[in-house]
Amino acid sequence: VISIKGLYKSFGDLDVLKGVDFTLLKGENVAVLGRSGSGKSVLIKIIIGLLKPDRGEVIVLGQQIDKLAGKELDALRLRIGFSFQAGALYDSMDIYHNLSFPLTMNNRKLGKKDIDAAVEEALEAVGLKEKMNQLPTDLSGGQRKRIGIARALILKPEIMLYDEPTSGLDPITSTEINALIMQVQQRYNTSSIIITHDLTCAKNTGNRIAMLLDGKFQATGSFEEVFGSKDKQVESFYEYNFI
Ligand code: ATP
Ligand code: MG
Repeated sequence: VISIKGLYKSFGDLDVLKGVDFTLLKGENVAVLGRSGSGKSVLIKIIIGLLKPDRGEVIVLGQQIDKLAGKELDALRLRIGFSFQAGALYDSMDIYHNLSFPLTMNNRKLGKKDIDAAVEEALEAVGLKEKMNQLPTDLSGGQRKRIGIARALILKPEIMLYDEPTSGLDPITSTEINALIMQVQQRYNTSSIIITHDLTCAKNTGNRIAMLLDGKFQATGSFEEVFGSKDKQVESFYEYNFI
């Protein structure tokens, strides 16, 4: 569903992506690891067409996304769900309106019944139906993450992009979020990229790990393959995460 070949991206003198090759297969979850500033969010922004590559090919759901604009780009983006790091919920709107908001945009002509059903289904998927009429500020960090995921699911996306889904959560809540990511994959038949610094999250949600080092994916494979390698940078990542 995503195919990237020879992707380069710089900002002035700063070369962030230096020949990224990456494939996301249908139904697969790939956990993307890499140090802060390694370019993970830049990569995501290129995948959703918010940033243009300097060079290389980026094909998302069969279309070269950097060649799209306007309605065509919007249409493709609607097929991709993002869950943002901070949740990015509107604090002044209750959960119902946070979720229904994307459904009422872009001149979508959905009736109230359909909107209610979609909101209910997404909330049920994340196990928080009873929070529909509360404000985001009344929720715990873990619940906010769940609502962020529910909102990303509202249009039944084919691809899900999770940016740090477990950051700032205790280990038990993190484990629940990891389980939720797996449930989403089953229930919605999504293919996902999970950006994380949390190795437990990477291990438990990723069918495959891809590690961004020096602007390229240099270590990819199963968790055991990547962390069994003798690469110095991979080793140091592993050490810092566990000590
Ligand atoms: P983190 O794990 O901390 O979120 P990251 O891997 O997501 O890090 P990016 O946000 O992708 O890091 O940023 C990679 C580098 O590109 C950083 O040095 C950042 O300052 C730079 N960068 C990102 N976007 C821009 C931009 N629009 N203009 C200039 N520099 C940018
Ligand atoms: Mg980032």
